[in-house]
Amino acid sequence: MYIVQIASECAPVAKVGGLGDVVYGLSRELSLRGHCVEIILPKYDCLRYDHIWGMHEAYRDLWVPWFGGAIHCTVFYGWVHGQQCFFIEPHSGDNFFSRGFFYGALDDHMRFAFFSKAALEFLQKSNKRPDIIHCHDWQTGLVPVMLFEMYKWHGLWNQRVCYTIHNFKHQGIAGADVLWATGLNNEGYYFHYDRLRDNFNPFALNCMKGGIVYANAVTTVSPHHAWEAHYTDIGCGLSHTLHLHQDKFKGILNGIDYSTWNPEVDHNIKLQYSWDSLENKAKNKKALRDRLLLEDNDRPIIAYIGRLDDQKGVHLVHHAMYYALNRGAQFVLLGSATEGSINSWFWHEKFHLNDNPNCHIELGFNAELSHMIYAGADMLVVPSNYEPCGLTQLIALKYGVVPIVRGVGGLVSTVFDRDHDDKHPPEERNGYVFYQTDNHALESAMERAIGLYTVYPEEFRKLQIQGMKYDYSWNNPGNEYIDLYEFIRA
Ligand code: ADP
Repeated sequence: MYIVQIASECAPVAKVGGLGDVVYGLSRELSLRGHCVEIILPKYDCLRYDHIWGMHEAYRDLWVPWFGGAIHCTVFYGWVHGQQCFFIEPHSGDNFFSRGFFYGALDDHMRFAFFSKAALEFLQKSNKRPDIIHCHDWQTGLVPVMLFEMYKWHGLWNQRVCYTIHNFKHQGIAGADVLWATGLNNEGYYFHYDRLRDNFNPFALNCMKGGIVYANAVTTVSPHHAWEAHYTDIGCGLSHTLHLHQDKFKGILNGIDYSTWNPEVDHNIKLQYSWDSLENKAKNKKALRDRLLLEDNDRPIIAYIGRLDDQKGVHLVHHAMYYALNRGAQFVLLGSATEGSINSWFWHEKFHLNDNPNCHIELGFNAELSHMIYAGADMLVVPSNYEPCGLTQLIALKYGVVPIVRGVGGLVSTVFDRDHDDKHPPEERNGYVFYQTDNHALESAMERAIGLYTVYPEEFRKLQIQGMKYDYSWNNPGNEYIDLYEFIRA
């Protein structure tokens, strides 16, 4: 099959969170199976250019219709760790992708509406006719809308769209300007409840809703989250739309790319290891301590890696840090906050705990350091308020780090409590789970994990190995996506 992914992120060149990992990991899996996969991305100025090989101009004069005129674009081509990527660079005063960041501008809806339009224009003009267009999240929600309302009349009539939602919270709320800019025009038509009109604000358009309504198949990133989005308020107002389109909606659990996230081959870490050479993990723990100037003692290292925002349960992350320190553990936090108040809160904590030999807070995005932390830590906390899939617990399991998670979304489908889960045999349990959002719930799970580490180290080691033996690669999800592609193609 010929598959084109249109996305706003792809690891490691443009990665803000799990979306980037998924676009890269799924593409790699599909290409390994012999499918032809191409990825279309914006050419951000803040791309990690050091991870792109052989970048060159692929299409010089792409004119993308925009507001009755047209914007001149150049399309570049390069290889990102074996994957074929096209990067669209517009030349206009709007500087859509030359802002030093990926998201967070007031005109994000226009930036990504433009990108969606440019990607389709590129497919059309360069005579690319993929079997499947796979697009992701609100940023590319307008792709199926424009494909089936406009581009199918201009040669793209045989393409099928799979639309994956990684986070229901951000839906791309826009005004009528998006219609006039992209040439969809016809306000009366698109502002209909059955099409793009937001389910709550009758004067707004919802790009994610557009994706759901128009795509041939809609997925989210775990079966449990699909259920949550359909039946609880986690769908952030889209439950009814999902209900109307339930026949084409399902959850497919994300995988992780074991060529990137595997302690047996990871070159970012001090010493490679696997479940049968777990003693080498101790050297990585020592290396992590040296790097972060932590005291070398016999305490466990508990880590948090991820965005610092409401979704991730920042208050519980904060509590986990102090609870770990009080219970005689070390704590390492690697996170970035986009919201000003959360950012200053954690900067304050960083200064406050600066001289503590058992704690390190690293604020910002640092992919290399994240590998070292997974390799060196003993436990990882993931106390999310909601979590569509969650990749950090999957990576942790592979690195022999025992996850302590809140039982929501994809965390429920991937982590099984050592003491309380009814999974049999018990050798298939791999971590600790708590359900409520209060401090005590978190403490009860952390207490059990720290207790096992200190009192029954052999049992703790067994639990680490049980986690490492799980297969959360792209193998199974790869099969599911291919079945889905074939289904919608037929
Ligand atoms: P999200 O909701 O952000 O998509 P996921 O758990 O699905 O969360 O994916 C997070 C990914 O981003 C993981 O690969 C994790 O290691 C990485 N990550 C998150 N924050 C940071 C950071 N500050 N520095 C480096 N890597 C990070």
